[in-house]
Amino acid sequence: MRNLPRRVAALGFLLCLQLAGEVRSLTILHTNDIHAHISPADDTRLGGFAYLAAAIRRERAGCSDCILLNAGDLVQGTPVSTIFHGLPVYELANLFGFDAATLGNHDFDYGWLQTRKFMDTAKYPVVSANIAGAGDRLFASRPYVILAVNKLRVAVLGALTDDMKTLSTPKLMQDWHTLPVVATVRKYAAELKAQSDLIVLLAHITGREEDEFLRSAPEIPVIISGHLHDGLPRETVRDGRILVRVKGYGEELGRLELAVDTEKKAPVSWNWKRIPIDASRIEPASDMAAQVKRWEDEVKARVDQPLAVSRRKFEKADMKLLIERAMRDETGADFAFINSGGVRDTLPEGQLLVRNIWDVMPFDNAVVVARVKGRELPRVVLGDRTVDPDREYTLAVTDFTAANQSARSQLGTTGLEFGGDVGLLRDLLIDWCRKKKVIE
Ligand SMILES: [Zn+2]
Repeated sequence: MRNLPRRVAALGFLLCLQLAGEVRSLTILHTNDIHAHISPADDTRLGGFAYLAAAIRRERAGCSDCILLNAGDLVQGTPVSTIFHGLPVYELANLFGFDAATLGNHDFDYGWLQTRKFMDTAKYPVVSANIAGAGDRLFASRPYVILAVNKLRVAVLGALTDDMKTLSTPKLMQDWHTLPVVATVRKYAAELKAQSDLIVLLAHITGREEDEFLRSAPEIPVIISGHLHDGLPRETVRDGRILVRVKGYGEELGRLELAVDTEKKAPVSWNWKRIPIDASRIEPASDMAAQVKRWEDEVKARVDQPLAVSRRKFEKADMKLLIERAMRDETGADFAFINSGGVRDTLPEGQLLVRNIWDVMPFDNAVVVARVKGRELPRVVLGDRTVDPDREYTLAVTDFTAANQSARSQLGTTGLEFGGDVGLLRDLLIDWCRKKKVIE
C-alpha cells in the first residue's frame, strides 16, 4: 500500500500525457485534375507523367511521413484518354504510387461502368462518400480509408461536387447521383473522429463548396481539393483549418507539411509549397517514360496527321466562336452554341494536326439541332442579331448542352427539344478544318 500514491501519481502523469497528446509530423503530396496529360505541354514543357513520377519519387525518398493523394479527374483531356476511354491513364497512374484518390466529374465521362473499371484497375483505394444509387448504396467501395503513417491514423475521406447534375448527363450516370456534399461529409467526419488522429477531406468540388466547407465544417481540419484547374497562390486558412489545391494537367505537385496535434486532431503548424513539374529541368522516370511512349505511339498513328494551316493563334474565347462557326457551316443551322467550359484548349498558329482538334474537343459529344421560334431563342446565342419572334430558326448545340440546357453556363432555357444527333462535334470540326485548309 505504501507505494500507492506513487502509482497514482504515475497514472496521473500518463493520463496527462494522453490528454496533452503529442505532435507528430505528416507530409501530404497531392495532385488534382491531371486530365490524361501523359506528356508535357508542347509550348510550356510543363507536366508529363514521367516527370511528375520523378518529382514524386524525389520528394518521397527517405520521407517516413509522406502520403500521396489525388483529388479526381485523372482522365479526359487528350487523345489517349478519348480513344481508349481512359483506361491506359489509370494503368499508368499506378506507377505514381498514390495512397488514395477520389473521383472527379470527368472520371464518369465514359459512363459509370467504365468508372467501375477504373476503380478495379487502380492499385490504391478510390474513396468517395457521396456518390449513391438506389437506396443510398455507395458507388465507391468505401467512403474513406484510414492510412497509418508516422504513428498517425490519417482518415482520408473522399467527396464529389453536388453540381453533377450540370456536369454530366443522365446517359453517363444513370441512377447514380451525388448526396449533399457538405452534410454527407460532416456525417462521416463525426463517425471518424474517434477512429483517427486527423481527418483529411479529399474533395473534387467547386469553389463555392470549398468556401462552404471552410465556413461550416469545423470537423474537417485539412482539405485537399480539386476541380478548379488553377492552383491556389497560397493555402487558404480559416480558423486554423487549411485548404490546398494545385494547378491541373500535372503541372504542379503539392507538398503540405503538417505538425498534427493528436489531442486536437488538427494541425498546429504547416508549410505548403507547390512544386512545378518542369520537363526541361527534371530527369524523367524511365519506367513511366517507356509506358508513356508506348501509348503516345499508339495515338500518333491516328492523330498526328496534317489537317490545315492556322493564320493565327486562337485563344479559348476565339475558339468558342470558331467552333460555333464550324457548327453553323457544317449543319446549316442559323445559330450554334458551345459552352466555354467545353472548349478545352487553344489552337496554335501554323500547321495544325488532327491532334490539335482532339485537344480542343476531347469529349465524345454529339451535335444536336433544334427548331426554335425566334422568341424562344436563348439570349446567349443571339449576340447582336435581331430575329423575327414568329419565325422558326435552327439551333445547333452539343448533346451535353442540350441535356444541361437550364444551367447558367449553358443556354438558361428549359424544354427546348433537340433532334437526333448529326455526329460527333470533334469529327465535325476535323471535317470543317480539312475543307477550309486555311483557318483565320
Ligand atoms: Zn472536375
